[in-house]
Amino acid sequence: MDCIFCAIIAGTIPSAKLYEDEKMLVFRDNAPQAVFHALAVPKAHIASAADIASAEGGAEIVGHIFTVISQKYAEWGLQGGFRVITNSGSNAAQSVGHLHFHILGGQPLPANLA
Ligand code: AMP
Repeated sequence: MDCIFCAIIAGTIPSAKLYEDEKMLVFRDNAPQAVFHALAVPKAHIASAADIASAEGGAEIVGHIFTVISQKYAEWGLQGGFRVITNSGSNAAQSVGHLHFHILGGQPLPANLA
């Protein structure tokens, strides 16, 4: 399996899981860039945000991921606010080719995004 996030989903690479259901997984980023930094990923392999429209069930899984984030953020200590980011393609420095949403928080974040 050459997709690292597919391997995490399959359990062959360990991860610090925060949430899991039949469609998605949330686990801690292993190189955190904020006090709280997790990744929300669909279990189905979708390469990036640029592929959501063409992926079967793409819109539904993105809606589901954001719904779960809105249900769980307080449990994750993010009552003060949080940021959700997805990097798509080389100009955005996407480094893992499996759609993922960074969830950042637990501290004030800089107002500028780039
Ligand atoms: P991006 O650069 O937007 O593609 O984000 C990929 C993220 O995956 C980075 O923040 C990495 O730190 C994170 N990452 C890579 N491998 C792992 C892993 N095995 N466990 C947790 N996070 C990882």
